[in-house]
Amino acid sequence: MRNAQRLLLVVFFAASWIAAPPAGAAEKLSVVTSTTDLAALAAEVGGDRIAVESIARGYQDPHFVEAKPSFLLKLRRADLLILVGLQLEISWLPPLITQSGNPRIQPGGPGYLEAAQFAEILEIPTGPVTRAMGDVHPFGNPHYWLDPENGRRIARGIQLKLAQMRPADAGYFEQRFQSFSQRLSEAAQRWDEMMKPYQGRRVVTYHRSWPNLAKRFGLDVVDYVEPKPGIPPSPAHLVQLIARMRRENVKLILVEPYFDLKTPNMVARETGGHVVVLLPSVGGEKEVTDYFKLFDYDLALLKKAFDAAP
Ligand SMILES: [Zn+2]
Repeated sequence: MRNAQRLLLVVFFAASWIAAPPAGAAEKLSVVTSTTDLAALAAEVGGDRIAVESIARGYQDPHFVEAKPSFLLKLRRADLLILVGLQLEISWLPPLITQSGNPRIQPGGPGYLEAAQFAEILEIPTGPVTRAMGDVHPFGNPHYWLDPENGRRIARGIQLKLAQMRPADAGYFEQRFQSFSQRLSEAAQRWDEMMKPYQGRRVVTYHRSWPNLAKRFGLDVVDYVEPKPGIPPSPAHLVQLIARMRRENVKLILVEPYFDLKTPNMVARETGGHVVVLLPSVGGEKEVTDYFKLFDYDLALLKKAFDAAP
C-alpha cells in the first residue's frame, strides 16, 4: 500500500514536472501570418519564443485562399496576425478576421500588423483606379517581399513588434534579427553577383508578381500574359504579346505555380521561347523551406534559363 502510494506520488510529480514550463519562461507568442513568406521572416526573428503558422500554402495564389476551418480557431487564439496588406488578401482574409471574434487582431488592434508599411512599394498608381484596369491595387503592388532588402525591412518591423509585445525578450529578438540581417547581406552579395551577367535581360511574366525582384536584379519585364492584373488572357492580347515577343526577341515567360501552363506554353511555342515556373513564395516547392532558399531556388532557375536562351 505504502509503495503504491509512493509510486503514485512519484508519477504525479513526474507529470507535473513535464507539464510545467521552465522557470521564468512565458508561453510562446501565437503568431498567424497570411502567407508563408511572412511566416518565414517571423520565424527568423521570433525563434523559439513564438509559434508561427501561415494560412496560405506557398503554392497557392495569395489573392484567393480557401482557409481550412482550423485556422479560425488559430486566429481566435492568436496574439499577432501579420499580413501582406495593400489589398492582396482582400477577398479572403477580412471575413476570417471578423469571424475570429479576436479583438487583438482586428484592424487597428494591438495584434494586427500589416507588413507593407515597412517595405518599399512599387507601382503605386498615380491617377484614379477603376475596375477597367483589372485588379490593380490602389496602394501599389503587393508582391513586394521578393527583394531581399524588403525582407530585411519586414523582419525588422516584426522584431520591433515582438519586442513591444514581449519586452522581456526584446534582446533575444534583436539578436535574432542581427543574425538574420548578416546572413541576408552575405546571401544578397552572392545573389547580386550571380545575376550580374543578366542585367537588362527582358522577360514576360504571367502576373505582375515580380516588380521588386526585377528591380533588384536588373531584369526588364516588358509585358504580361494577363492583359490586366487578375484578368485571364484574351486571344487579342495574346496575338499582340506574341508579336511583341517576336519583334523584341524576348524568350522567357515567367509563370507563378498556380497558373495553368497551357497558354504560356502556347506563347512559348509561337515565339521559340521558354516557360519558367518561378516561385513567388516560400513553400512553393518542398525544398524551399525558408526565405533564403526562395531566392536560391528562383535565381538558379533564372540563371539556367538565361544561359539556355541567350
Ligand atoms: Zn497580384
